[in-house]
Amino acid sequence: MIVTGIPVSGGIAVGRLVVVGALMPTDVDSVSVSESGGSAEERMTRLVAAVAASRQEISSIAAQTRQRIGSDPAAIIEAQLLVLDDPEWWEPIRDEVLGGAEPTTAVRSVTEAVAEALASLDDPYLRERSADVLDVGQRVAGHLVGRSRTHALHGQTGDVVVAAHELTPTDTLDLDLDVVRGIVTEAGARTSHAAILARQLGIPAVVGAVGVLEAAAPGVVVVLDGDAGTCEIDPEPHALDLARARSLGRATPSVITQSVTTRDGVQVHVLANASSVSDVERAVAEGADGIGLYRTEFLFMRSDGLPDEATQAEHYAAVAEAAGGRPVTFRTLDVGGDKPVPGLKMDPEENPFLGVRGIRLTLANRPVFDAQLRALARTSDAFPGVSVMVPMVSGLEELDDVRRVLQDVAPRVAFRLGAMVEVPSAALLVDALAREVDFLSVGTNDLTAYLLAADRGNRHLHGLYSEFHPAVLRALHLIRDGAKETPVSVCGELAGDPRATGLLIGLGYRQLSVSGPLVPAVKERIRTIDTAAAERAAEELLRARRHRDVDAILESRPFEA
Ligand code: PEP
Ligand code: MG
Repeated sequence: MIVTGIPVSGGIAVGRLVVVGALMPTDVDSVSVSESGGSAEERMTRLVAAVAASRQEISSIAAQTRQRIGSDPAAIIEAQLLVLDDPEWWEPIRDEVLGGAEPTTAVRSVTEAVAEALASLDDPYLRERSADVLDVGQRVAGHLVGRSRTHALHGQTGDVVVAAHELTPTDTLDLDLDVVRGIVTEAGARTSHAAILARQLGIPAVVGAVGVLEAAAPGVVVVLDGDAGTCEIDPEPHALDLARARSLGRATPSVITQSVTTRDGVQVHVLANASSVSDVERAVAEGADGIGLYRTEFLFMRSDGLPDEATQAEHYAAVAEAAGGRPVTFRTLDVGGDKPVPGLKMDPEENPFLGVRGIRLTLANRPVFDAQLRALARTSDAFPGVSVMVPMVSGLEELDDVRRVLQDVAPRVAFRLGAMVEVPSAALLVDALAREVDFLSVGTNDLTAYLLAADRGNRHLHGLYSEFHPAVLRALHLIRDGAKETPVSVCGELAGDPRATGLLIGLGYRQLSVSGPLVPAVKERIRTIDTAAAERAAEELLRARRHRDVDAILESRPFEA
């Protein structure tokens, strides 16, 4: 049986299914509490011990995270320590326990009340803290009942695929990477923190796989395909062998540090997408030729208020420094109604995806845009490889406005200016846009969503939302062809999918920007491609009329002949 969900972190995983679960709010009741009752003093002792154990655990996850994937994600985890010290959380729990309540009951009721109160606030930063409070409360409750949320993993050996209703960021970072090969959850979206962390850790993951917990008994062998978004339960022996071979091929790519060419000697640059200094360090270690997309919005989302020009300039310089002289393309702030930023007021919108997003938002918030462009101009003075790219461009007018702003705030600006092609109108106008900028980059994530009018995170539309849809392939051809001499890269998730490498090369793309951990696999793939065969295959793919025709052509591996 195959359960389908949303693919969020590529690769194949084969392993026994182990279910890990939340201990709150429902599970706590069913756990037999080994020690309950006792005097107020005894109950307080248990509570204090559980809080201390949680503090120690969170600190150790943060330390491991810093070592594994860097200081920015570690800081997200460390923020949870603040919850343990917050009197608004701690004092009512203490009072309830002193007043006769069981510690588990007190932790649960206060945690839920605090989380609920935070979730209802207008300030998006405080709203986000609601998830931290719940996460911490679950951890403390787990210690009180003598079980951690990932307790099912303790003592496991061999290869394991973790299944859960949902994983929090700390759950994800707490997974034992010696045994965990893949993750499948019933809830979650491509953009949830756990999904992003899974990608950074290089663990194949599928979210939104509704029904997987019911369909699969713990211990059964599953094949998780993080590219296709499927979890096959108890597969046939031959399917299992095939999957094992594919998982090994993917898991041990050799790191290629020099630039790579196709079999017939055509150079293709593989850059990385990044959103923190540690992402950049990791991408460089994986052999990336540079950073093709630096998502600056993460700096804004991580900050307490809006980061000022000096803070931004310092951060961008650290990014450029970490890239060690390789080119870096900074994308200007790309947020909107769906992605809130602390300190930036955004009116609620009926259709945030068709609303004030990306360049529309920054042009409407000049002080914010000006500060960012000044900071980027300062960075480019010190680091010549810096380019700047604007997101969500829909036509020439926005580029005219950007040029005017630049003239105003940084008249001597030295950086190369580029535009993302991710709105269908930009794809149709690509010849005109190409004349106005130094380079273009195709954001296939949004372009696919807007071409097909299908939300990338909506599991009901998963069959429709596909970057391999014939319409998307035709748009990719139109863009590469229409841009003529202007360099065009692809920086959406499609660029990191090894099934698409031959297609993109066949269409004429020579620069791909992919998630850092995927750099070696994409480079390896490029070395197997024959450009002439890829061009023929691309022509055939452009004639495909249905999605299944595309799949059939791709399956025949037409790029290597
Ligand atoms: C895209 O839309 O393809 C893209 C790269 O940008 P993001 O995923 O950040 O919207
Ligand atoms: Mg986008």
